[in-house]
Amino acid sequence: RAKATNRGGYVLFEDSIRRELEKRLTLEAELALAAERDEFELFYQPQLRLADGRLMGAEALIRWRHPERGLVSPAEFMPIVNTSPISERIADWVLQTACAKGAAWERAGHKLRIGVNLSPSQLESGGLAISVAQALASTGLSPTSLELEVTEDILLHDEQEALNTFLEIQELGVRLVFDDFGTGFASLSYLKKFPLDGLKIDRSFVLGLLTNPDDAAIVSSTIGLSKQLGLSVIAEGIEDRDTADFLVRMGCEEGQGYCFGKPMPAHDFEAKFLTAPAAAEVA
Ligand code: C2E
Ligand code: MG
Ligand code: MG
Ligand code: MG
Repeated sequence: RAKATNRGGYVLFEDSIRRELEKRLTLEAELALAAERDEFELFYQPQLRLADGRLMGAEALIRWRHPERGLVSPAEFMPIVNTSPISERIADWVLQTACAKGAAWERAGHKLRIGVNLSPSQLESGGLAISVAQALASTGLSPTSLELEVTEDILLHDEQEALNTFLEIQELGVRLVFDDFGTGFASLSYLKKFPLDGLKIDRSFVLGLLTNPDDAAIVSSTIGLSKQLGLSVIAEGIEDRDTADFLVRMGCEEGQGYCFGKPMPAHDFEAKFLTAPAAAEVA
């Protein structure tokens, strides 16, 4: 009907869909080539214990070193990756690479967790627990040093399948945390349904902590909730010292944000955060 009554509009619409599709296919092909050419890289962002600033972990965050465009952020390409056939391949690479780096740091005597963001395809394929076990076995990383981050959209797909996979993963000793907590539609019901070890308070609530009483109430309640449920809690997106201090007063254990360090290449992370003699850190 649209065709008959508004021929011009229909054609325009069709053109814009075609353009979108072409753009997508180009990007998909570029991403496959990028994987081929080893253009992806993991950056690491420190996670600190807020009370004393001790390094507790590092979240691995993917970057694309594009030959012409330079460093491309995951927001620009992960949505495409996640719905394309190369998704599993990239997700496997992320898991393997992060575990290998974590194992190397562990061997050097540093005690820290490695956080890895899961992709939807990893739960859809049903083989995630096996991939995780393989990554641990091949790299030698301690299971308890690995922390997998899941967002709500990943859980939406098939709850029963996700639940089974999570139980298998926890059997391995690997931690599971709820990423971007509070931004989805059903965060609370997921807390009840899934065997999670901790939650990460989304940075949208942390940003306005000092100025917006609603944000402060939400963050403070989330910290209380995590304690009552026996979950660990970390605040994301801490950009200044005052916010960090406020979070300490609210009882938040850990924090992550530009205030402590932006995501950075592994060698920069090592130079900045892993310089203390390993022996001193173990003691
Ligand atoms: P996320 O997992 O919630 O990661 C936290 C994001 O917040 C990162 O963005 C980080 O750079 C940013 N961030 C950290 N502290 C601050 C701060 O103080 N201020 C501000 N403004 N931002 C801060 P990034 O690296 O661009 O990643 C964006 C998202 O892309 C991630 O959100 C995650 O959902 C996804 N992602 C990144 N790497 C991977 C990956 O290897 N695999 C998968 N599946 N997803 C990934
Ligand atoms: Mg994350
Ligand atoms: Mg997050
Ligand atoms: Mg996020």
